[in-house]
Amino acid sequence: MAVLPKTTEQVSRILAWCHRNAVKVVPRGSGTSLSGGALPLADAVLLGLGKFKRILDIDYEDRLVVVQPGVTNLAITQAVQDRGFYYAPDPSSQIACSIGGNVAENSGGVHCLKYGLTTNNVIGCEIVLMDGEVLRIGGRHLDPAGLDLLGVIVGSEGLLGVVTEVTVRILPTPETARALLIGFSTVAGAGQCVADVIAAGIIPAGMEMMDRKATPSESR
Ligand SMILES: Cc1cc2nc3c(=O)[nH]c(=O)nc-3n(C[C@H](O)[C@H](O)[C@H](O)COP(=O)(O)OP(=O)(O)OC[C@H]3O[C@@H](n4cnc5c(N)ncnc54)[C@H](O)[C@@H]3O)c2cc1C
Repeated sequence: MAVLPKTTEQVSRILAWCHRNAVKVVPRGSGTSLSGGALPLADAVLLGLGKFKRILDIDYEDRLVVVQPGVTNLAITQAVQDRGFYYAPDPSSQIACSIGGNVAENSGGVHCLKYGLTTNNVIGCEIVLMDGEVLRIGGRHLDPAGLDLLGVIVGSEGLLGVVTEVTVRILPTPETARALLIGFSTVAGAGQCVADVIAAGIIPAGMEMMDRKATPSESR
């Protein structure tokens, strides 16, 4: 069975009912996870977050955006780019994957070399625990006092609860960006180049390596 709640209250009631009746629940964002964590099970409820699609707040002064979990990763950047900001973690699936899925998977992308993974860019969330209890963790500022519970939730693959709201930091778009494409005869040579660049104290905004199998034959 699939359910598509629209509010945190509905998520809470669904989880509480399932908990009382020992029914498994599989949360689902956009279903792009390569590890298959959002695949439905025959004896479980599939809880889709597709209706949690709203950007709730954009705060340029404090450089943060509050979103519902079904908002796509790319939509965050699209919402703030006119004002010269962007959201740094950029999985290649960013056009489709949801921020809730990114939190559950601690997703990364090319920019994470410099700006960190999802865990380094999420500062708060609302989560409904499996028994229906609603918790707010973190908030609108970095490093709140106490245990790093946000660090436990980010990357927990939907096992601890359902994330129903996420607060992310946004960064100013760099003034310039230059792309370099460099060919290497061996993968080891390319890897050594990465090590040399980092050892020289240069942290590029992004780095990606593609081997022969990943590049189409026309480009060789
Ligand atoms: C072409 C392609 C390229 C990709 N590139 C990258 C990449 O560069 N970097 C990278 O890190 N990943 C990448 N991925 C993997 C995937 O896109 C990410 O892991 C993404 O974060 C999954 O988001 P989703 O919304 O599709 O989540 P789903 O696939 O729907 O769910 C993933 C997991 O999160 C849980 N979940 C989803 N929403 C919630 C929620 N609101 N609360 C609690 N749990 C939830 C699910 O139960 C499941 O365990 C790629 C995938 C594809 C298909």
